[in-house]
Amino acid sequence: MTQPLAARTLMEKLVSFPTVSRDSNLPLIDWVEEYLDTQGIACHRHYSPDGGKAALFAHAGPNAAGGVVLSGHTDVVPVDGQPWNTDPFTVTEKDGRIYGRGTCDMKGFDALAIWALVEAHHRGVKRPLQLALSYDEEVGCIGAPPMIDRMLQVLPKASAVIVGEPSMMQAVTGHKGGKGFHTHVVGFEVHSSLMHTGVNAIMSGAKLIEWANEMNQQNSAKPVDVIDAAFYPPWTTLHVGMIEGGTAHNITAKDCRFGVDFRCVPSETLAGWEELYRAKVREVEAEMQAVHPEAWIKIKERFSVPALRGETEGEAERIARQLTGDNANHVVSYGTEAGQFQERGYSAVICGPGDIAQAHQPNEYITAQQFSAGEAFMARLLDSL
Ligand SMILES: [Zn+2]
Repeated sequence: MTQPLAARTLMEKLVSFPTVSRDSNLPLIDWVEEYLDTQGIACHRHYSPDGGKAALFAHAGPNAAGGVVLSGHTDVVPVDGQPWNTDPFTVTEKDGRIYGRGTCDMKGFDALAIWALVEAHHRGVKRPLQLALSYDEEVGCIGAPPMIDRMLQVLPKASAVIVGEPSMMQAVTGHKGGKGFHTHVVGFEVHSSLMHTGVNAIMSGAKLIEWANEMNQQNSAKPVDVIDAAFYPPWTTLHVGMIEGGTAHNITAKDCRFGVDFRCVPSETLAGWEELYRAKVREVEAEMQAVHPEAWIKIKERFSVPALRGETEGEAERIARQLTGDNANHVVSYGTEAGQFQERGYSAVICGPGDIAQAHQPNEYITAQQFSAGEAFMARLLDSL
């Protein structure tokens, strides 16, 4: 057996793999599996459909149900076009801040979780600890559901899941649900001087985007439902983050593609918003087809993340509160894999080091203080197991 590595060393290693969601995470997964193997821990993998990525999970302690899962994602968002002062894939500490892509979201937590798993294995815990590392979280939490299904087949079922997204080590018990759609608008091309005879896909798509603007305005003006009050903002938001389309300035655009994403408060449903969006799509499509029958709009679901709902007497929440001493109520407006674990029958909570404000940013960092708080949390967790 080689010496176990410190959590900080593990983080440095994990950050050195540029596991941007569009690229493979297999070099990182290979390294983690090899490391855990040297420590005597067996790993299981679940591959993405194309085999280019994998999730990894492992179990330490007695071969029994009722353990605790530490769950993180291995992918990070791109650094393209961001002004970094240091190499994003080399951990650099300065003035109490540890810089590097993923230090905050969320390889810092992944490192702590790997460290804790190895400790649990060597110490011999009474209650099992499990590690779950997913892929493709940053592109809509796509990788976790098949991984969780596989875990349920392969490992004894744990009773609580701690998803270590950056929460400043507070126990977060709720988040909004999210759903995103690819929208493809197909128009009919004519010379722009005769635009009344063609259908411009961009200008038709703009009607759907303007609808999203209107919905945001209406939602923000509605009275806040009491069960949504803790969220920031306490209303459902619609967002268009990417768009492309058109061929030339003097041709009515044939194609326009964009995404429409919904972040939905608990008092409303994703299904309800999907229905509203589909109705608006049909309305705009009918207007397009009135000009030319070959025009159409197709929408395709890109991701769907169930909301994390507050549990009554939740085991995960109990553990997180006991270990952090945090008894306040926290909810967040971003989606996580916690809702997906909960949907599959686990008690789940979000609790991890770092501030979400630093996630996805150029010069992403976690403070050394937060990383130490994460280490202290893991130490207390191991004692409790
Ligand atoms: Zn994350």
